[in-house]
Amino acid sequence: MSTDAYCSRTESTADLTPAYDEPLRQCPMCGSSEIKNYDHDYTGRQVDRCQSCRLMFMNPQYTADYLDCYYANYGQCGEDVLAIPDPDDLSERRVAAKADAIEQLERYTTPGRLLSIGCYDGIELLLAERRGWQVEGYDVDATTMRMLREQVDFPIYTGDFFGLGLPADQYDCVFMDQVLEHPKNPQEYLREVYRILAPGGLLHIGCPNIKSISSRLKTLLGKLGLKRRRGKHYDMFHHLFFYDPRTLAEIMESHYGYEIVVIEGDPVIGLKSMTLEESWRTRLSNWIRRKYPICESSFRLVVRKPGEAVCARRMAA
Ligand SMILES: [Zn+2]
Repeated sequence: MSTDAYCSRTESTADLTPAYDEPLRQCPMCGSSEIKNYDHDYTGRQVDRCQSCRLMFMNPQYTADYLDCYYANYGQCGEDVLAIPDPDDLSERRVAAKADAIEQLERYTTPGRLLSIGCYDGIELLLAERRGWQVEGYDVDATTMRMLREQVDFPIYTGDFFGLGLPADQYDCVFMDQVLEHPKNPQEYLREVYRILAPGGLLHIGCPNIKSISSRLKTLLGKLGLKRRRGKHYDMFHHLFFYDPRTLAEIMESHYGYEIVVIEGDPVIGLKSMTLEESWRTRLSNWIRRKYPICESSFRLVVRKPGEAVCARRMAA
């Protein structure tokens, strides 16, 4: 799961036959049994919506065994060597976007201990390490993690996330970029992240925005029968949950006790080679995207675990 590279994968490359669980009768996030059908896609996969917390999710969902097979070797697709982008190459938009996210976190905390869940090629970890963070990475893709471990010096984990035995109250930041829409149990990840975050620690979440103008329009056109492949934008070949900034922020506050720090649309990352005119256009676009997340197809949410921030790395020293 995770990363833009993962999300660029298309359905046609998945040659497994999907297997499904029994339909969920309760909302996985809040436990409400008030769930109603919201939409479906062109293959017949259903999207339900919780009437209580407003979370939307695929229902029924793929079996755990199917997802285990699907995500095995997911990122590398059979390559022998993991191609890690150059952390200095800020002309590469993905690198620049990760760097921007790390810099944003540093507006609210000082570099300490950081865990990236769904770290794939570890680019955010390399960027953060250079800026003084003590970094660790986790991903379900064991093959990619084995290759990453050969190229970096920091701890890389794989296997059952909940069996890792990560210490409580020790991480100053947890980074989950394009991750939370993938697993069957996002609520368990959020609970475990809360446990391991230090008081005052930050959680960065990046997600597709199912309520962006673009997504709303695609949903509407699909429901009106005006789209050839209705519901393609749900990406249900690997996305199981569908978030919008307001709904997720309310869940994080009311179900987990986090404090909201940032809610914004993903910015366009300005590249160094831009002309003056392009630069000003990018600034204006980013002001709009940050202020009105509905304008952008994905969003960032940064939340804080309550408590006085004390850098976990300094505590350990
Ligand atoms: Zn719910």
